[in-house]
Amino acid sequence: MIIFKKAEALSEYLHAQKNSGRLIGFVPTMGALHAGHQSLIQQSKQAGELCTCSIFINPSQFNNQEDFKNYPITLEKDIEQLFTARCDVLFLPTVAEIYPPLLQQKSYDLGHLESILEGKFRPGHFQGVCQVVDRLLGITMPHRLYLGQKDYQQCLIIRKLIHLCGWEETITTQVVPTIRETDGLAMSSRNLRLDAHQRKIAPYIYRELLNIRENLHTASLHQLKERARVSLMKDGFQVDYVEISHSSDLQTAEDTSSSLIGLVAASIGPIRLIDNLLLH
Ligand code: AMP
Repeated sequence: MIIFKKAEALSEYLHAQKNSGRLIGFVPTMGALHAGHQSLIQQSKQAGELCTCSIFINPSQFNNQEDFKNYPITLEKDIEQLFTARCDVLFLPTVAEIYPPLLQQKSYDLGHLESILEGKFRPGHFQGVCQVVDRLLGITMPHRLYLGQKDYQQCLIIRKLIHLCGWEETITTQVVPTIRETDGLAMSSRNLRLDAHQRKIAPYIYRELLNIRENLHTASLHQLKERARVSLMKDGFQVDYVEISHSSDLQTAEDTSSSLIGLVAASIGPIRLIDNLLLH
């Protein structure tokens, strides 16, 4: 695995690889890698691509400074994992490399997607995501970009970004299913911060999503959301939202006639977790 710290050197390398006929797969991450990240890398490797992974904790997407300060860093273990997964290239930039002084700060017209769900509870978050992904894609220009369904709204936002940048013909997005612990908890770097009690109750989020899916045709959507919200609150969660939405655009669903997704964001103490489940 080759490690690059400089954007220009990475761009040149990938450009040369493309010219020699290689397909480039790109997996952007914030590190503290786990089996969820690995499955993205595995898919790129299986597709025979030159798999490029980035580790960069992007300050501009954190609306909560405590969350940013406490974001787990496990770089040595990450490098070992990438090596074992046969990742070809690791990009490890500094903040100055991603946001050089002369880089023009852009703002993105993301429409309604920016003001709902995660966008509503984390103001500015998706603008930050777009800033970093725009820059990373500009540097790597991959054929295929791997994203986790765990961050479903982010997948839609990044597809919108690719459309806004006119890269639809160049970059294909591949959404990879959520990898879970055996008790159902969606793998997440933030899980490392859970204490024993918090870790024990964290899978209740998935339990509620499964409940919604099982009872989709036996109760109203309003009742299903309310039951899940109340149940999580009783278990000690602070619930930001339990929503049932159209999977195509995340507009709130009024009935079950189209393809739906259940989405939850809830905190246990200072740790905020999100999860989702396709309901059809
Ligand atoms: P992060 O490091 O949290 O920014 O995540 C990097 C990428 O890995 C994003 O596309 C995430 O959606 C994806 N990812 C995170 N957790 C999981 C998971 N449990 N299963 C599959 N993909 C995931």
